[in-house]
Amino acid sequence: MWRDYLFARSVDEALELLARHEGQARLIAGGTDLVLQCQRGECSAQVLVDVTQIPGMERIEERDGSIILGAGVTHALAASSALLRLKAPLLSEACRVIGGPQVRNLGTLAGNLVAALPAADASLALIALDGEAEIVSPDGRRWVPLSDFHTGVGLCRLDPTREVMTTLRFSAFGSDYRAAQERLARRKVHALPIMNVAALAAVREGRFADVRIVVAPVAPTPLRLRRCEELLEGREATSEAIREAADLAVSLVHPRDSLLRGSGEYRQALAGVMVRRALERVAGIAPSDRAVA
Ligand SMILES: Cc1cc2nc3c(=O)[nH]c(=O)nc-3n(C[C@H](O)[C@H](O)[C@H](O)COP(=O)(O)OP(=O)(O)OC[C@H]3O[C@@H](n4cnc5c(N)ncnc54)[C@H](O)[C@@H]3O)c2cc1C
Repeated sequence: MWRDYLFARSVDEALELLARHEGQARLIAGGTDLVLQCQRGECSAQVLVDVTQIPGMERIEERDGSIILGAGVTHALAASSALLRLKAPLLSEACRVIGGPQVRNLGTLAGNLVAALPAADASLALIALDGEAEIVSPDGRRWVPLSDFHTGVGLCRLDPTREVMTTLRFSAFGSDYRAAQERLARRKVHALPIMNVAALAAVREGRFADVRIVVAPVAPTPLRLRRCEELLEGREATSEAIREAADLAVSLVHPRDSLLRGSGEYRQALAGVMVRRALERVAGIAPSDRAVA
């Protein structure tokens, strides 16, 4: 386990503490992933730098047509935010089903993204929202599209021994957008998903526009189904078009056999069913308690 636990009061101080310990220090937020990694001997950091007390890390606001979130927004905060429930229900609903109350009170959006588990709920929603993350390093600041953020299981384009994720942003959507998450797990709460689908689109004069579909875990990183998105773009939002997209989804995903999640063959078929159900809710064809205009 770690030797020192330090609190950073600013992003600059976090960077300075990381630099001072040259690869031996690691950022921590809620600790719901990292502490378990330390206990399993998978994290050798001597020093943990806590970023939860940095001002602004928990802000949730709308500015110039964008939703701006501090990277330290917890799942509980995102789930209960009136702004997100109105402008980004996909994210607040995704955060509402993560773990149990204790995990939601501690776990953060940045932690969910950087832990880089392929089926992570908040990450899936943020990718479907075309979100971007601001990353600050000793070399400067950069914005990274979240659709390009993950590079493998547990791997991403951020080094938590020298860089800090500070902010997340995505466009605030108009009232013609609808979104839906389909999540199958062994239990409704406190269980990681067997299959997770997030879908979002505008439906204008009965036609799909700006379609985004993300599915996981079917690959080492969350998978954006761009060919399905292209197939639906401009098409009438009918059951037939959705069935075509769902059939295409089956041919695009290749989940592996998993003792925990079921056979690859079963989950490949499941992906098609869940993509269809999510799109039906987005199109307003299926009655839904979660798709929100
Ligand atoms: C019992 C249990 C159930 C769970 N259920 C779910 C579930 O249903 N769905 C789900 O998606 N996840 C689930 N999780 C996983 C976990 O809760 C989430 O991934 C959580 O969002 C991680 O956030 P954290 O703040 O706790 O991250 P931490 O554990 O603090 O950190 C995780 C990683 O992020 C890095 N990091 C943290 N903050 C920053 C930052 N600001 N900048 C740069 N790097 C940073 C850390 O260095 C570390 O590498 C569960 C976990 C547990 C223990």
